[in-house]
Amino acid sequence: MTKSKSINSPSRKTQKLRSFIAMDILEATQKLAREGRDVISFSIGEPDFPAPEAVKQETIRAIQQDFTQYTHSMGLPELREAICDHYRERYRVRIHPDQVLVTAGTSPALLLTFGALLNPGDEVIMSDPHYPCYSNFIQFLEGKMVYVPVRETEAFQYRPEEVKKKLSRRTKAIFLNSPANPTGCVVQAEVMKKLATMGKIVVSDEIYHGLTYEGEEHSILEFTDQAFVLNGFSKAYAMTGFRLGYLIAPKNFIPTLQKLQQNFFISTSSFIQRAGIVALKKTKSVRAKMKKIFYERRKVMLQGVRDLGFGVATDPRGAFYVFANAKHYTSDSYAFAMDLLKATGVGVTPGIDFGPGGEGYLRFSYATDIHNIRRGLARIEEFLHRKKMKS
Ligand code: PMP
Repeated sequence: MTKSKSINSPSRKTQKLRSFIAMDILEATQKLAREGRDVISFSIGEPDFPAPEAVKQETIRAIQQDFTQYTHSMGLPELREAICDHYRERYRVRIHPDQVLVTAGTSPALLLTFGALLNPGDEVIMSDPHYPCYSNFIQFLEGKMVYVPVRETEAFQYRPEEVKKKLSRRTKAIFLNSPANPTGCVVQAEVMKKLATMGKIVVSDEIYHGLTYEGEEHSILEFTDQAFVLNGFSKAYAMTGFRLGYLIAPKNFIPTLQKLQQNFFISTSSFIQRAGIVALKKTKSVRAKMKKIFYERRKVMLQGVRDLGFGVATDPRGAFYVFANAKHYTSDSYAFAMDLLKATGVGVTPGIDFGPGGEGYLRFSYATDIHNIRRGLARIEEFLHRKKMKS
């Protein structure tokens, strides 16, 4: 009996993984839309802009030129060089194209990074709250998350002394995400410098770079070369569906990473890589335009969320999220988000998706136009009013 059960069921390893609640909410929102409801999604984690025109044209051109075969497993040399140029121009850091591995988005880069780093039981220092997929990758590879709380009143910055206290013999890496999902935190240079000198590898998810509205974003490579950098084209380039990202790693890890890439993925899509070269070299003005629009939306969302009585102790400085304290409305963010969705058609992401420290918070994405932001906020206001009347 037990034997046949295990034959027919998914592996124990996968059963331990949590589902991605942001996607659950998104799918529930889409279901309501299919049923004819007028839905407004503040749960979305991707820009609503089309990909830049030059990027679309280059993709079509590459296909028409039959540029449709496997590439080198590490990626097209020209794209890897363009990535190095980008890091040199933007952050004044020198990396060699041999350290760059092109992937189908940042997500596979996370799998490769943790795959190359972790032995069972190895620990990764992680902020709580954090982007939920990180913990699933780490768990899947039998690593252990060690949470360090980050606080609303401190703009969700790490306290380096708290990180230091959590280091152990088993610590393999300190994880950094700046600008951060879900908090919008842009990690200060001082904090990065301290994390970089703790004698551990730093893994830095820089996917929201290019979307910082206040203060300055820094790459971890400005402070140490003992770092894995994950980046890609999904956010600031509005290219989520292209599935294109990259990993920059210390040279001694490259043979291992290449071996994993060859076996798991062979190579990243050839014509999409061509689009990546153009994205880096020819989209400066369209990216600046998108950022300006996000900046305007951020003002409206931030003000609106505060006017509704949610707490936002400090302005989020980057990405496209407001992580708002809803503790005087609910201690169960999942139930609250589901009730809100059913009653109003407005989707927000419950804070619990982002770790225990996120409970009691809601993530509002402003990757939707200002008209929708205003309409959504008005519906939430009504919902809160009705809730108040009932109690
Ligand atoms: N990291 C963070 C913090 C994200 O928010 C996302 C997308 N939601 C990713 C990585 C994955 O992005 P992609 O695989 O599209 O590059």
